[in-house]
Amino acid sequence: MKKLNEVLRDWDVTIGLEVHTALTTLQTKMFCDCKLSHDDPPNTNVCPVCLGMPGALPVPNKKAIESIVMAGLATNCQIMPRSYFYRKHYFYPDMSKNYQTTQGPVAFCMHGHLDLEVPGQGANGGYVTPIRIQRIHMEEDAAKMVHVGGQEGRIGGSSESLLDYNRCGTPLIELVTEPDIRTPEEARLFMEKLRQVFLALGISDCSMEKGSMRCDGNVSIRRRGTTQLGTKTEMKNLNSFKSLHDALAYEICRQAEVLEAGGAVLQETRHWEPSKRRTVVMRTKETADDYRMYPDPDLAPFDLSEEFVQACRARVPELPDAKRDRYMAELGIKRKDADQIAGSPAAALLFEEAATMAPECAGLVANVMVNLAPAATAITAAQVAGLAELLRDDAITFAQAREVLQIVDGTDADPREVVDKRGMRQITDADALATTVDEVLQRCPSQVAQYKEGSRKVVGFLVGQCMKASRGTGNPKLFNKLLVQRLDEMNRG
Ligand code: ADP
Ligand code: ZN
Ligand code: MG
Repeated sequence: MKKLNEVLRDWDVTIGLEVHTALTTLQTKMFCDCKLSHDDPPNTNVCPVCLGMPGALPVPNKKAIESIVMAGLATNCQIMPRSYFYRKHYFYPDMSKNYQTTQGPVAFCMHGHLDLEVPGQGANGGYVTPIRIQRIHMEEDAAKMVHVGGQEGRIGGSSESLLDYNRCGTPLIELVTEPDIRTPEEARLFMEKLRQVFLALGISDCSMEKGSMRCDGNVSIRRRGTTQLGTKTEMKNLNSFKSLHDALAYEICRQAEVLEAGGAVLQETRHWEPSKRRTVVMRTKETADDYRMYPDPDLAPFDLSEEFVQACRARVPELPDAKRDRYMAELGIKRKDADQIAGSPAAALLFEEAATMAPECAGLVANVMVNLAPAATAITAAQVAGLAELLRDDAITFAQAREVLQIVDGTDADPREVVDKRGMRQITDADALATTVDEVLQRCPSQVAQYKEGSRKVVGFLVGQCMKASRGTGNPKLFNKLLVQRLDEMNRG
């Protein structure tokens, strides 16, 4: 099979995503008062509604509606004043009502967009591209099935299938994009961005590992320069950023191979096998008719008042893009650092607190946040600020900062005290360092000669020698500066 890059030369790619997010931060299920918890013993959080007993009546969870409206506002959607719950019929033991309650053509949130920033350098420099959002609708999750002693994911191949209805009725929102995504990389970036937005809203733990956020990828290709979209295939339940990217990349290459051999792509649902790095057919496409969708007679058309929407709007916090722009404008943080910090609510909180403590070196605070803090388990704002100040004063090197971080992580120790107590503080006195520099230059005549012949690489080696001679107590930046000064003097003299 051809490589993705080769395929992209001859073919244009079209991708649309369907992202399911479980509203895990809520207390109760979508249509009943059962507790939302996946850790309790199986089938303990159930009632006639979520077990689908005949005659039981659903009551929509207002908090869940609040969450979906916030999601819609954060993704520039139109919030529909009236929308409808639908029944989507199918038979499978994970939904004992034999239909899933979802929404029809009019969902709570319609016609939004998220702007995607795609980084890049040089000729293919970064760009911003809007990804339109078709809709975000409300639905309910099904029960969890565990197949014991057989082929995974298939009732037929298992000796036993177990059902846990605790998950049944979990409020889920499904976001569907328009087919605006053009590469697997853009798809991954979209998913990452959406996750950051939902995390900022606090509507879900957004754990792809635990399945509270999962994604179906739709993809088709067409000859470069043509406009008619090709036949798409859909890959279900991609549960990591890597799977999403790799499954799409594989599928694009597979479709190109089929078409280039004169074949036709079949509209089908496929399954990504990460271990074998390929997709396999799950089923050919069912049509909407198969589900016999119609408005749920147990649930009245759902009206949202202007006041309700305003209240939701007031609860939408500052979103990652706005945060990033503020960090850049107010604190002079580099775009890349600002973007990374703003993407995580926890990191943003820590950063802002630390930046207040060390306002004159916010750039270094950001640097510590991006390059050091991710390795820590429990670091405080005061420690981040302390490390930034030590770096500002050239009192320690970056490598030492990493060491200090490991020492203070999980304690409330002050990094500055740790540095002093352990004698790590670097000598920044130029006179003291000059002696070492002269010593080293005397010992290394061949490197001095190489420098004279124009080799600048030897300076790195000489800095290393100076660090060694000072047993790591000298500041390497200063050594570098002094070495170049002395070498240039020697050349002139
Ligand atoms: P279906 O009727 O098969 O469910 P939808 O129109 O609802 O298809 O679209 C489902 C997802 O597939 C959406 O994210 C949409 O953007 C995407 N999609 C639609 N047509 C194509 C296509 N030709 N190629 C790639 N993705 C597509
Ligand atoms: Zn229930
Ligand atoms: Mg559809």
